[in-house]
Amino acid sequence: MSEEMTVFKSLNFSVCMQCGKCSGLCPIFSKSRLNPRRLMLEIAYSMSPLTTFPPLNIQEKNDVWDCTTCSTCSYYCPRDVKPMDVVIGVRTFLLEHGLVPRTLADVLEAAYKYGNPWGLSPNKRASWAQDLKVKYANSEKTNNLLYFVGCAASYDTRAQEVAKAMTRNLNALGIDFSILGNEEKCCGNEIYSLGEKGLFEDLKNHNMKLFEQYKVQEIITTSPHCYHALKNRYGLVKGLQVKHYTQYFAELLDSQKLKFSKRIEKTLVYHDPCFLGKHNGIYDEPRRILESIPGVKFLEFSKSRSRSVCCEGGGGRMWHDLPGGRLAEKRVKEAVDMGAQTIAVACPFCLLTFEDAVKTTGNEGKIEVKDIMELVNEAL
Ligand code: SF4
Ligand code: SF4
Repeated sequence: MSEEMTVFKSLNFSVCMQCGKCSGLCPIFSKSRLNPRRLMLEIAYSMSPLTTFPPLNIQEKNDVWDCTTCSTCSYYCPRDVKPMDVVIGVRTFLLEHGLVPRTLADVLEAAYKYGNPWGLSPNKRASWAQDLKVKYANSEKTNNLLYFVGCAASYDTRAQEVAKAMTRNLNALGIDFSILGNEEKCCGNEIYSLGEKGLFEDLKNHNMKLFEQYKVQEIITTSPHCYHALKNRYGLVKGLQVKHYTQYFAELLDSQKLKFSKRIEKTLVYHDPCFLGKHNGIYDEPRRILESIPGVKFLEFSKSRSRSVCCEGGGGRMWHDLPGGRLAEKRVKEAVDMGAQTIAVACPFCLLTFEDAVKTTGNEGKIEVKDIMELVNEAL
């Protein structure tokens, strides 16, 4: 087995039957040379001792950086091949050989040096919270519920509004919670997706040590990407629960701790984020919250739930552009055409890509993008 191939040892690509479902459903296939079916074929042939097929030249696979890690290919593959993991494996190989686009190399370096992919000061991570009532986790107090804010909601001025709304909502409901403040570091989800598994392990170990030190019992996250990392990639100790905020607030609704007192007279459409929906099967909780807000008229996209179209912000694509607009533009156009006034999102990356798409499609003033936490805050 050549050095290139060892990264695929543990993957299941050899049972691929070349049905083409992965490529046919890949949202990036039509705008990039990225072709998961073809990649499976090339790797399978290259690993077979019997074949005369030209050996795979992984070094030429630059198109893998176009993948958003939306998981559509893995979700729909009838043979459970997990093409997305193969794409991440190719990224790992390229990284090990220094074959990474400059912008993404900068992201990885920033996450290594500063604990966030934007390279902003770790001392300013909790600046968003300075005028709000928040407690910082410490060893002196009980820290049963930890709010893991994440990088986008900590640093991006628009996404900070979600962290602020979340904090106001928790305070309004009398829920005791803490944040890690400047001690928190990137969850590492995008770092893992970019193939830098060593750096992901360092970030994971840093955050997990804090969870242990502060005896945290339950974690809620702003971002589905943080949720996915903590839930599925951290290997948290038994008993330490992690929830995306939509799950947490849906439970508050069910137990009648969350009650809305104001009306929002708007037509809303909800966009399923890939890391909440396809990756983790969380479809109902966001809808339950939105449909409970008095006055809301709730619409569905033609492609929703597991068929939801990726916004094109995951897998490192926040920092790696492709020519032409993001897929979020298609969603915005559809939302406007169906008469929605608000696109409700539950992910900071979706919030940013959709707001950008509202501008690039010339729909400013016609439609707004709001995170569910902001809508809950309006209706409380
Ligand atoms: S969907 Fe699965 S079985 Fe079909 S071509 Fe893709 S990887 Fe192979
Ligand atoms: S994860 Fe999504 S973008 Fe990446 S190859 Fe699979 S379907 Fe395409």
